[in-house]
Amino acid sequence: MNEHVISSGGGTVLVAGGAGFVGSHLCDLLLARGHRVICLDNLQTGSRRNIEPLHNHPRFTFVKADICDPLALDTRLNQIYNLACPASPPHYQADPVHTMMTSVVGTGRLLAMAEAHGARFLQASTSEVYGDPEEHPQREDYWGHVNCTGPRACYDEGKRAAETLCFDLQRAGRVDARVARIFNTYGPRMRPDDGRIISNLVVQALRNAPLTIYGTGGQTRSFCYVSDLVEGLVRLMNVSPNPEGPVNLGNPGEFPISELAEIVLSMVPSTSRVVHEPLPVDDPRRRRPDIARARHLLGWQPQVPLAEGLRPTIAWFRQVVPRTQPEPVLRALAGDAAHLAARAPARKDVS
Ligand code: UDP
Repeated sequence: MNEHVISSGGGTVLVAGGAGFVGSHLCDLLLARGHRVICLDNLQTGSRRNIEPLHNHPRFTFVKADICDPLALDTRLNQIYNLACPASPPHYQADPVHTMMTSVVGTGRLLAMAEAHGARFLQASTSEVYGDPEEHPQREDYWGHVNCTGPRACYDEGKRAAETLCFDLQRAGRVDARVARIFNTYGPRMRPDDGRIISNLVVQALRNAPLTIYGTGGQTRSFCYVSDLVEGLVRLMNVSPNPEGPVNLGNPGEFPISELAEIVLSMVPSTSRVVHEPLPVDDPRRRRPDIARARHLLGWQPQVPLAEGLRPTIAWFRQVVPRTQPEPVLRALAGDAAHLAARAPARKDVS
């Protein structure tokens, strides 16, 4: 019998990365459930626009800060969600050292804050900890197949190290930490220049530009709509007792990338055609979550099928994508990272 209970939570919640795509939806949900929310973001990939509607909310505060820097808050925190990290390959590869430091130094700082406040902690980890998986679908007890020297390592290994910090502090009884392994997620508020597959395809279709498929398009991913994901995060934060292990959150529906391009073209009137480009280094060949643990512990499973979630996502991109032909969408080849780094805003190094 499942003896896990999900409480409604309560009190003051820090959402690191709260101005990002997923983080801002999480802020919305937490406010709707009566929490006081402090949103922390360095705005590297997050955006003020995502949290604009919340600025006059009496229980919402925005703090612009980087989690790698020391931070003192005078408000007592009950819960901390750590979603602070660029998550799309071109963005996290643009400044790989900072990406790694964000997961290790930044997560370490937030965990220390959780310990000092006696706050519960949830780490947004990733399906990338499984690397290019040799087991399919991916269960939480699979240790993964990650290249620790490749261009994805700054993210994959950073997130793996962040998990290690969480479980060490959890075992030592110092922080009540939970780890969500988030699979590919999509929805409104994704950046048009995010560089990931759904945003790229929809933006390209809207602009009548070629739909870029890297490699054959036979590689697969599983796509979770953002409202399903944030519901899973909140349940994982509020479940008792602590699950004491990572929990996959994602939609088990698995699609080859070429099929996704067909679905997008069937939903966006467009003159676009598919073009094939080289596969990025270390690109995982397939990915699908086994969500038995989330079903059992959290009573959670995704409710929104891909075709349904794509509608509001496409509507969002229609709003934000100018009708002109601006810069090409980003891609995730290692060779492009230097180009992106050159365009990234200046930021001081983390030591
Ligand atoms: N991809 C693609 N065209 C694009 C962007 C991505 O074919 O314009 C592929 C990419 O190579 C990968 C899959 O789509 O196989 C998902 O990539 P994404 O960057 O969305 O996320 P990932 O799961 O790789 O982190």
